[in-house]
Amino acid sequence: MRDQKLFIDGTWVPGHDTATVRSPYDDRAVGSYAVAGEQQVADAVHAARRAMEREWSPAARAAVLRKAERLLEERSAEFVEVLSAEAGKPVTAAAGEIVRARTTLGLSAEEATRLSGEFVPFEPGVGTDVLAVTVPVPVGVVAAITPFNFPLNLVLHKIGPALAAGCAVVLKPSERTPLTAGLLAELLAEAGVPAGRLNVVTGAPEQIVEIWADDPGVAVLTFTGSSAVGWALKARSPRKRHVLELGSNTALLADTGADLDAVVDAIVTGGFTFAGQACVSVQRVYAVAEVYDALLAKLVPAVEALVAGDPADERTVVGPVIGDGAVERLLGWIEKARVDGASVLTGGTASGRVVAPTVVADVSPQTDLVCGEAFGPVVTVQRVADLEAGIGQVNDSRFGLNTAIFTRDVGAALAFARRAEAGTVMVNVSPSFRGDHMPYGGVKDSGQGREGVRYAVQELVDHKLVLLAGQ
Ligand code: NAD
Repeated sequence: MRDQKLFIDGTWVPGHDTATVRSPYDDRAVGSYAVAGEQQVADAVHAARRAMEREWSPAARAAVLRKAERLLEERSAEFVEVLSAEAGKPVTAAAGEIVRARTTLGLSAEEATRLSGEFVPFEPGVGTDVLAVTVPVPVGVVAAITPFNFPLNLVLHKIGPALAAGCAVVLKPSERTPLTAGLLAELLAEAGVPAGRLNVVTGAPEQIVEIWADDPGVAVLTFTGSSAVGWALKARSPRKRHVLELGSNTALLADTGADLDAVVDAIVTGGFTFAGQACVSVQRVYAVAEVYDALLAKLVPAVEALVAGDPADERTVVGPVIGDGAVERLLGWIEKARVDGASVLTGGTASGRVVAPTVVADVSPQTDLVCGEAFGPVVTVQRVADLEAGIGQVNDSRFGLNTAIFTRDVGAALAFARRAEAGTVMVNVSPSFRGDHMPYGGVKDSGQGREGVRYAVQELVDHKLVLLAGQ
C-alpha cells in the first residue's frame, strides 16, 4: 500500500483529502493519493517558475536523467508491481513498459546535451559585419496531463523532454494510476532533479487542469488522453502552446498477396495486448476480397488462444479493462453492431472487467465499433473490393494516428504511404508499433504536435535569434 502525498517544490505534502486507488481486476485497494486544494494546485506552478530562475546546465540535466535511468533499472521490480496493480496491466507488459521508460530517460539525457542552435546567414545590406545565431530557450513551465494506460512511459515522454529542454513541470497523472507517477517523482528526486523542477499534483482532474489552463504562469499544456478532453483543453486556453496526443481507431489494410501470418501477428499483438487499451491498438481491419476468408480462418483461432484474466499471472495477455464504464461501453457497442447485422466470430462477453478477446466481422461502417474509439480487446474485420476501396475505408475516420498496410506490392505500399491520413504509416509493420525516439503524433481528431523525445524537445523550446553587428 502506497499512501502518496503531493510533490511540490521538492517536498511531499498532504492534500486536503485522500482518495483510494483500486485494482481494476479485483477492486482491492492498492494505495491512496492526496487530493490537492486549489491553492496547492497554484503553488505547484509558483514552485516551478521559481525553479526555472535557478541555473541548471544541460550537462547537469543529462547527468541526472542518466542517473534516473540507472535507478529505474535497479528498482524495476517495484515499478512493475505498482504499475500492474493500479492499471491492471499484465506483469509481462508492465515489465516491457519499464524497459521502454529507461530508453526514454536515456534519450532525454542525450537530447539535453544535443540542444543547439544554428548560424543564420544574412544578405548584404543588413550590416557588413553581422553574426546571427539561434539559441534554444526553454518555453517555461510545462503542465503535463497524462492517461492511465502507460502510467510510466507516457509520463516520461512529458517529463524527460521537458527537463532536457530546461523547462520545469507540473504533472497531473491519471487518477486511476497516480502511484506509478509518484514513484517516478521519488526516483527523479533521488537522481538529483532540483526542487521545483518537477511537481506532481493529484486530485480532482477538472479542477487541477482548469487552474493550470487559466494560469498565465503555465506556458505549455501537454496532454495525452481522449480527444474530447484534449480539444476542450485547447479551446479553454487558446493562447497557450499545446501538444495534444489523443485517441484513434487504428486501421490495418491487408492487400492482395499479404503475408497473412504477419497480418495475424500484427492484429493479435496490436489489438489485444493490455486489453486493447493503447491509442494505437488495432481496431479496424480491412482485407481485400482475395485474402478475407483466409485471414479470418487464421485470425479467429489465434485470438481464441490468448490467455485472458489475472494481470499478476505471467501468462496473461488480456487483463481487465480499466473500469465498469469501459465494460458497459464495449458490450453495448458489440451488441449494437450485432443488431445491425454484424457477426461476432469470437468473444463478445465479459467476466468481471475482463472482456473476452473479440473479433467482429461484417460490421456497418457507421456503427460505433468502427467509428468510435473502442479502447478494448475488440477488432472489427471488413471485406473491401480492392486497394482503392481499402484506402478509402482507412481514411473514412475522424481520427488519424498510426495506420498500416500489409502488401508485397511496392506500388500499393507507396500509394498507401502517400494517401493514408495518419501521423505514421507503416508498411508490413504493426500499426501499434512505437519506438520512443520516433516522431509520434496524430492528424485530424488524433491531435497536434509531436512526441518522441527529440521532437518533443523541439515543442518545448523557442529558437531565439541573436543578431550581432559591428559598430
Ligand atoms: P482521459 O481523457 O479520460 O484522461 C486523460 C487525462 O485527462 C487524465 O489525467 C484525466 O484525469 C484527465 N481528465 C479526464 N477528464 C478530464 C476533464 N474533464 N477535465 C480535465 N482533465 C480531465 O483518457 P484516459 O482514459 O486516461 O486514456 C485513454 C485515452 O487516451 C484514449 O483516448 C487513448 O487513445 C488516449 N491516448 C492517446 C495516446 C497518444 O499518444 N495519442 C497515448 C495514450 C492514450
